[in-house]
Amino acid sequence: MASLKAKKTNKKKKKTEWVMPTLSTCRSPPAKAPNSCHDLHDLVTIRVTQGSQIREFLVIRPLLRWHSSYFRVALDPNGHFKESGAKVVEVEDDINAFASMLCWINTGSLDDIAVDAADVTDVNDGGDEYSGDNNDNENEGGNSEKDEEGLMSLLLYKVWVLADKRGLPGLADATIDKLHERLVSIWSLDTRSIVPYTVRNTNPESCLWNFLHDMLMRTKSSAGIAYHVDVHLHDFESSSFLMSILKLKLDRDGNEEWQNLSRLEWAREDRCQWHQH
Ligand SMILES: [Zn+2]
Repeated sequence: MASLKAKKTNKKKKKTEWVMPTLSTCRSPPAKAPNSCHDLHDLVTIRVTQGSQIREFLVIRPLLRWHSSYFRVALDPNGHFKESGAKVVEVEDDINAFASMLCWINTGSLDDIAVDAADVTDVNDGGDEYSGDNNDNENEGGNSEKDEEGLMSLLLYKVWVLADKRGLPGLADATIDKLHERLVSIWSLDTRSIVPYTVRNTNPESCLWNFLHDMLMRTKSSAGIAYHVDVHLHDFESSSFLMSILKLKLDRDGNEEWQNLSRLEWAREDRCQWHQH
């Protein structure tokens, strides 16, 4: 009994000893708008529609134009925007992702973005209980904690897709960094929503697709990938994506030089390999 207790204590101690190592810094200059963009007299309302939902955001026009190649044209004072005299511009986007984009534009950080409870269905729709694999990727939290983690990851994937669509490479790269950092921090991966979302909303040459592919390929065991294939069996696109990774892994498992990355090795990966610059 005493030895069992000691083991439990050691396990707890091991968990708390993890210290986040220094993560790679981007070789591209940071996306920092000049102070001249902060013109509080030049505001525009962006009306974002997502299905039956509509939300309006008041934004500083020069700041949004500086960051986004799409809005640089759409809100050009010498173009159609001026001719139409518009003060309200309408777009169709994911509302939470749009709010996160504005948070990043205004603060330079994705730390404080919020998950909307209405998105809970995105995670629960899969109906599959996540469990880790023999990589020790277990998440010890309760269901709500797991769902919240899944939602935050899904939101970041949506932010990347929005950044790609609206031409904000700096935001896309910041999102990759955040997703990489989250896996290092949590060392647990819930694929229920992120795999279906990624295979349906990005193409196989995109940075996000490659990031998800590499993350699964490099940090999961063959048995772990097989588990996730099973979770997504009802979904042809997702299971095909995971099967292609499993095939690659099984081919490489015979090669003694091929090994999964440890948590520390994953932390030390150069994130620029998934950046758009
Ligand atoms: Zn970079």
